[in-house]
Amino acid sequence: MNLSKTPPCEECGEIVESVPTCLEFKGEEIFLFDPAICQPCLEKLCEIYSTECANCGGTIPPYSNVGILKAGNGQNQYIHMTTQCNTPGNAFYGYWGKGTAREYVQIEACS
Ligand SMILES: [Zn+2]
Ligand SMILES: [Zn+2]
Repeated sequence: MNLSKTPPCEECGEIVESVPTCLEFKGEEIFLFDPAICQPCLEKLCEIYSTECANCGGTIPPYSNVGILKAGNGQNQYIHMTTQCNTPGNAFYGYWGKGTAREYVQIEACS
């Protein structure tokens, strides 16, 4: 039975040295627990799939939570899930994956 706690990288199949994978990318700190991606692959994914925060203009790396703003015309804008960027009134949040947001969740209005 394999009790190793470090799973193979989903991208390249190499053993991930430590989980979570930590990476600093353009000022954003990323701690990735799931999926298991090794650091070199994560950096590559960040370069390919990062998007821009509509609020501060900063980088939103893949595999992070995002606030989703409905910009009209079926367009979405994405913002950081931080107190600076995530203003009250945002109706949605999601998960920024490889170039698309997934798992949209509508935040219930507080009564
Ligand atoms: Zn890898
Ligand atoms: Zn931001």
